[in-house]
Amino acid sequence: MHDHTKYLAAAHKAVTQAAIVCNRVQGDLERVRSITKDDKSPVTVADFASQAIVGRILLEELGRGVKLVAEEDSAALREPEREAHLAAVVEAVRLIWPDATEADVLDAIDVGDAEPAPGGFWTLDPIDGTKGFLRGQQYAVSLGFIEGDHPVVGALACPNLAVDQNAPVDKADARGSIYLAIRGKGCFETPCGLCDTDQEPRAIRRGEPDAPVRVCASVEKAHSSVSDTDRVLEKLANPGEPVRLDSQAKYAVVARGQADAYLRLPTKKDYVERIWDHAAGSLIATEAGCRVSDIHAKPLDFSRGKGLEKNSGIVCATPEVHAKLIEAIRELALDR
Ligand code: AMP
Ligand code: MG
Repeated sequence: MHDHTKYLAAAHKAVTQAAIVCNRVQGDLERVRSITKDDKSPVTVADFASQAIVGRILLEELGRGVKLVAEEDSAALREPEREAHLAAVVEAVRLIWPDATEADVLDAIDVGDAEPAPGGFWTLDPIDGTKGFLRGQQYAVSLGFIEGDHPVVGALACPNLAVDQNAPVDKADARGSIYLAIRGKGCFETPCGLCDTDQEPRAIRRGEPDAPVRVCASVEKAHSSVSDTDRVLEKLANPGEPVRLDSQAKYAVVARGQADAYLRLPTKKDYVERIWDHAAGSLIATEAGCRVSDIHAKPLDFSRGKGLEKNSGIVCATPEVHAKLIEAIRELALDR
């Protein structure tokens, strides 16, 4: 049996430090972009740096046996023509790991090359919501620990999401927020960067909404069907305007009661959701009292490797709203 409290403390520290690095890179995107002509490079600089930080901290806190299944690997950075790129990653990492060498950083990134294993493993999206990161909007550092077919520990840093729910979600907050959960132990919110202080994370628990039902969804139209979302909302007695934001920050926004549902309706039948896009977020929403399933109302099955092979789409909402959304999806035959 793993020590979930210890695991959460390590995960909290890891996403806190990674968020500091991502935040710095996001503030300097133009310079990072100029390093290569490849427009994806600023993303990868932050992605790689974030993954290196998380890999290193998990090793430090939990020892050599750590199994981390992460989205990135170091292969591209090891190519000679990527020298400038690697240097930019090392520079970003040194913000919190001052004496890191290139070899240290490459090795730390490759801590994340484990495969899903029955005995339990971590899964990391070093930057979830890349497109939002590039727009200067929402993104997340997402770290979960999976046992059997479900996540049991989750830490989600949302560096641009204000704790203050009156702040606009499409603008970057100076501070950001972090969400933490252990299965069966509830969901907690804390401002970014407070890992080592005495301030206790605040427990969050949500209730059913009065009218209207506020739904959130992807900004990127390729990630979730806009037309199907509109059709589902038309079936509700009291729909609100959908809120669009990138990354697993959507799970956090529902968990804390700022929205009532997160809908991710497939744009193509064969898309398989990645485990690191949902492990931390789905646990956080569940522990805040929400129901999380796929569009067939089936629980997410994390025991199938790196993809949610047995699931399709995501419906995350308060229990009452969840039931209504599933009913609407069935009536519209979107689950077929
Ligand atoms: P979001 O920020 O919620 O729009 O989701 C970002 C995530 O969408 C990325 O991490 C990708 O893994 C994932 N993604 C990429 N293509 C698709 C697709 N066709 N359908 C659903 N998700 C996708
Ligand atoms: Mg992602």
